[in-house]
Amino acid sequence: MSADVIDGKAFAGRVREKVAAHVAQMKADHNITPGLAVVLVGEDPASQVYVRSKGKQTVEAGMNSYEHKLDADTSEEVLLAMIDKLNADPAVHGILVQLPLPSHLDEDLVINRIAPEKDVDGFHISNVGLLGTGQKSMVPCTPLGCLLMLRDYHGSLSGMNAVVIGRSNIVGKPMAQLLLNDSCTVTIAHSRTKNLADVVRGADIVVAAVGRPEMVPGDWIKKGASVIDVGINRIEGEGGKTKLVGDVDYESCASVAGAITPVPGGVGPMTIACLLANTVTACCRINGLPESEDFSS
Ligand code: NDP
Repeated sequence: MSADVIDGKAFAGRVREKVAAHVAQMKADHNITPGLAVVLVGEDPASQVYVRSKGKQTVEAGMNSYEHKLDADTSEEVLLAMIDKLNADPAVHGILVQLPLPSHLDEDLVINRIAPEKDVDGFHISNVGLLGTGQKSMVPCTPLGCLLMLRDYHGSLSGMNAVVIGRSNIVGKPMAQLLLNDSCTVTIAHSRTKNLADVVRGADIVVAAVGRPEMVPGDWIKKGASVIDVGINRIEGEGGKTKLVGDVDYESCASVAGAITPVPGGVGPMTIACLLANTVTACCRINGLPESEDFSS
């Protein structure tokens, strides 16, 4: 195995330390404590775990965490009224509605009700438009985490060929936009892409965000390329135990890549770290304070 391993867990720890230091400074200098409100509708077990973890890390970074749990049959009217209240609350600088929502609720309507400056997930249509036009926006956490790791490893990404596999609104599209804004030459691949192997072979940077276990083999990877594996897939491992794998075949890709993120311990930990970072950024913007360069897009 020759690739450098990009340790997302360690990097996320450093991001969280910088967030905590920034929060401490805001408290000391301005008596402002950033606050993150997370709204969970229903009892999806995976969502409950995520929300708990977000709340815990928010508090550990010195910020205020507000958790709002609503019943699975909550009406759209009640949910929208809660968002309106959080939008108007000066103690709340970031609002996150945990997805997926129960099927009777319109996700687009709900997300677009969040005040864009408090939209720490970066899914509001205004933030999507701002990112798309290269303006200051709130940036979705997972692609922001990937970008920060790539910048940390390479310094400048300018002129590199990047292939993003996956075109979802939460990962693939914003990832491609961020790489374009950093002057990469970007290709977005998806389920209808022809000759995907050849497309990927031309890439200096490969970001896989597909949701198909170990789909990308090592012989698709250009020697020395950087491979960022966003995928989180649960498969049956040895002795019938559940095992977590990414969208790339780690062993074969690591033998040709220059750098690679593992699963687990790569992109995953960066997502919550970037949520905390986005909350601090939102708080700075709302209060007209300088933002940290360390976690801006
Ligand atoms: P989506 O299902 O929304 O999107 C998957 C994308 O992959 C689609 O654009 C789809 O193409 C494309 N795709 C599917 N099959 C193929 C194929 N055979 N060849 C090429 N492209 C294909 O997934 P998400 O973007 O939400 O998530 C992707 C992965 O990342 C998942 O494993 C998810 O669990 C993980 N994830 C991890 C996060 C983290 O914190 N680490 C956060 C978010 C997601 P098409 O549009 O044509 O259907």
